[in-house]
Amino acid sequence: MPVAVHTLDDGAWISVNDARRVSVSDLWLLARHDVCACEVADFLAEAFVSVGISDGDIAAKIAGRCIVCGDESVTDWVTVGRVIDGEFHGVIPESVHIPRLRHRTSPR
Ligand SMILES: [Zn+2]
Repeated sequence: MPVAVHTLDDGAWISVNDARRVSVSDLWLLARHDVCACEVADFLAEAFVSVGISDGDIAAKIAGRCIVCGDESVTDWVTVGRVIDGEFHGVIPESVHIPRLRHRTSPR
């Protein structure tokens, strides 16, 4: 079954199969990132800029700022959840995430 993902309300939410699943205002711990100079960024999500899905793996580019140093930026692709057997499972934002340069379905 195809899974539909998109952002809602100017990026305030990620919708998965027409249900609001992931919202902004979470703190995401980012390692090996380039949003700022911190080794681990404590990144406050303010908007989801893009979202994509491949093989049930949902990733987003997140706009926000690091609350450690105050730098504002947009992340590379961060995995925000997975769809397994038609059901959405979110990741834990406060665990450590490593943004990737390219999501498998991201446009070049
Ligand atoms: Zn920082």
